[in-house]
Amino acid sequence: MSSKFLPFALPDIGEEEIAEVVEALRGGWVTTGPRAKQFEEDFAAFLGEGLRAVAVNSATAGMHLALEALGVGPGDEVITSTYTYTATPVVARYLGADVVLVDIDPRTFNLDPDKVAAAITPRTKVIMPVHIAGLPCDMEAILQLAARHNLSVVEDAAHAFPATYKGRLIGTLDSAATVFSFYATKTITTGEGGMMVTRNPELARRCRSMRLHGFDRNVFDRYTSPKASWYYEVVAPGYSYNLTDIAAAIGIHQLRKAWALQNKRQQMAERYNEAFKNLPVVLPAGPPAGDTHAWHLYPLRLRADAPIGRDEFINKMQQLGISCSVHFIPIHLHPYWRGLYHYQPGDFPAALAAYEQEVSIPLFTKMTDDDQARVIEAVTGLLS
Ligand SMILES: *Cc1c(COP(=O)(O)O)cnc(C)c1O
Repeated sequence: MSSKFLPFALPDIGEEEIAEVVEALRGGWVTTGPRAKQFEEDFAAFLGEGLRAVAVNSATAGMHLALEALGVGPGDEVITSTYTYTATPVVARYLGADVVLVDIDPRTFNLDPDKVAAAITPRTKVIMPVHIAGLPCDMEAILQLAARHNLSVVEDAAHAFPATYKGRLIGTLDSAATVFSFYATKTITTGEGGMMVTRNPELARRCRSMRLHGFDRNVFDRYTSPKASWYYEVVAPGYSYNLTDIAAAIGIHQLRKAWALQNKRQQMAERYNEAFKNLPVVLPAGPPAGDTHAWHLYPLRLRADAPIGRDEFINKMQQLGISCSVHFIPIHLHPYWRGLYHYQPGDFPAALAAYEQEVSIPLFTKMTDDDQARVIEAVTGLLS
């Protein structure tokens, strides 16, 4: 077996991305400018008619802006899953709102709509579903609940580009906003970056202003429009959340490859499914017939009858030169969140059980067939 180290994930950067970054650097406009604008336009066009895309320097920033634009503040409650990354709930805390965690559907790792329904109070303002691994949540149930209780939905789609729900791309459903991540390991990347998309022009306008210090106009317009001037007005206490043109240069080309990359990820996931179907594992939930899973992650669950537990499995894989990860350490187990809301580990039993058994094995498009064969051989060897 090769002793070469296989990382958990690597970005898939081509010569087109490199050339565009070099051009951006040579052109002298390195911060938010024409390439960021083009990336937004291309992204909106990818999703389809009526969508507005606001480029930001992280998905965390995009979710913060969306909640801010929806008026979330002290006294409000935001419902999300405990089975996510800390970025999802933390944005509510930035605004002084409270987080209400709910448990997951153990089959999909996605938040359970019945648990969401039970968690709604008169203070609830927003529901934040997270499409874990790139498998869309039960959005029909969540959007119906939101409509019935007059709540907004902000989707954490950090894993879900591109993915479809009942034939519609994630980002085009009837949520108030959907936020994608272009972090280094995500399905498409800009190094660090994100995109907030919405059908609501007012919400888009507020997010555009707040991502740039609460200016009344875009920095790009300020320097390039015929009416360019030194004058601007600060109309709100905004943030510094704009995406640079260097990052957007990468994004423009990543976006063009998004379907090809998704296709490759799906083929790799199918190869794993076939290889592991007789092992003591629970395979990741697939998409419903006709829909697309983004396959950002390949989350395996080791069953109780597996010869080794999850932690030992990860150690042994590491010894074989293969890096694995865990998605996720539930929010309610982390000291900050546990301390704030006095959670007990057993408060969310489905998430706790999933966490204890879950291991994400490498799935990224730079992996060769041989790399994948090596992972399959290692997993099969450890679990047979
Ligand atoms: C990566 C990730 C984020 C944060 O994305 P950034 O672009 O790094 O801010 C948010 N939610 C989930 C579920 C993620 O995996």
